[in-house]
Amino acid sequence: MEMPLFSSALKQFDQALKLVKLHPNTQELLRHPKNVYMCSIPVRMDDGSLRVFKGYRVQFDDSRGPAKGGIRFHPNVNLDEVQSLAFWMMLKCAVVDIPYGGGKGGVEVNPKDLSRLELERLSRGYINSVADIIGPDRDIPAPDVYTNDTVMAWMADQYYIIKRQQLPGVITGKPIAMGGSQGRGDATGRGGFYVLEALREKLGLKGKTPTVAIQGFGNAGFHFARLAAEAGYKILAVSDSGGGIMKLDGLDPIAVNEIKEGGKSVASLLGGAVKYDAVSNEALLELDVDILVPAALEDQLTKANAAKVKAKVVLELANGPTSFDADQMLFDKGIVVIPDILANAGGVTVSYYEWVQNRIGEYWSERQVHEKLKEKISRSAIEVDDLRRSNNCRMRTAAYGLAVQRIGNAIEAKGTQDYFSQSRH
Ligand code: NAD
Repeated sequence: MEMPLFSSALKQFDQALKLVKLHPNTQELLRHPKNVYMCSIPVRMDDGSLRVFKGYRVQFDDSRGPAKGGIRFHPNVNLDEVQSLAFWMMLKCAVVDIPYGGGKGGVEVNPKDLSRLELERLSRGYINSVADIIGPDRDIPAPDVYTNDTVMAWMADQYYIIKRQQLPGVITGKPIAMGGSQGRGDATGRGGFYVLEALREKLGLKGKTPTVAIQGFGNAGFHFARLAAEAGYKILAVSDSGGGIMKLDGLDPIAVNEIKEGGKSVASLLGGAVKYDAVSNEALLELDVDILVPAALEDQLTKANAAKVKAKVVLELANGPTSFDADQMLFDKGIVVIPDILANAGGVTVSYYEWVQNRIGEYWSERQVHEKLKEKISRSAIEVDDLRRSNNCRMRTAAYGLAVQRIGNAIEAKGTQDYFSQSRH
């Protein structure tokens, strides 16, 4: 089966292998998913008919702990995508050093075509299928594209019904009333902000007012914008799928978000009381700013536009916004790309805190969660940056290298490899 996305993920992986010391057996092991599960989920529709949906769960690796990763409901879900995302989750958890492997799940469905009750039956049906392979010590799902805390509540509840016990550690991203964590809502944008702050001086952004353009003003983009503006960064432009707006003296993310909460595009602010200029999503990526934040979709910076990027730093809040070729082009231009597996790891880090709280049965304040996140993700940012500098490589290669070394150490800690290599001589 053709797997273009996974093949491209392996290209990045191969580059990172040059930075690390791993036995060839370990390298080979990490090129293959541990478990791939596919299922057919029958759902009774509101009109009495039956539809069958294709579901997936991939557990790429569990050497450092149970597999961890979201469940995506999207019409384009396929095995290549789920497997690649599971691979990246494995790296993301290792980069921030949380004790998880990598997993991902998905259902091929357009959730907008389903009624709320159909969506609930599908969510519970997915758990009926995967109940034997997930678990708090085995594989822990979470929300992803088009799944949210309500979907997680249905899924967790279904798991409790099947297992006949409350096991809240089986799923993260739950509503707070069902054992969710404080601080999960803004964790991805907040984590990205902490990463940037940890590296601010090293990136030459201290002592000035850094300017920022953000593509995608959703959960990740908005919270990042809010925290950055509070800290004195100037947000010059933001966009969403309906277009973008720009304000040379800086815009107020909270005021802009009010229009999003009303279900409209940021572009609908054009022509209103506050004066903004229009900017297209393509032009936004090429603005002369200090920090460019892709926070929407994959493949936004490509061979076609990388040469036109003027930012000094790209902070990847979205997953996979920079193509393999563009990454190299940006590096050649001296632009630092802070890679997704570090920049957006705040979400999974707070998911981990949710799981810890569920297991110890003690719940932390929002302030405690913020402090723990800041400490953990800032330390990882500095480790990755040090590795990048000492190897004069892309930050993505350094992040992959750090992650792969940690995973490899866990695999090799069992010592079996040495035994076989020695017995051959
Ligand atoms: P979201 O749905 O809340 O927001 C996405 C935003 O992108 C929306 O404002 C949407 O209008 C905009 N958008 C869509 N198409 C666009 C386009 N062509 N041009 C510009 N904007 C466009 O999603 P989110 O949770 O903020 O996720 C955004 C990205 O961050 C995704 O790549 C996601 O995988 C990644 N991410 C999110 C989290 C998280 O916890 N939310 C964690 C890790 C990674």
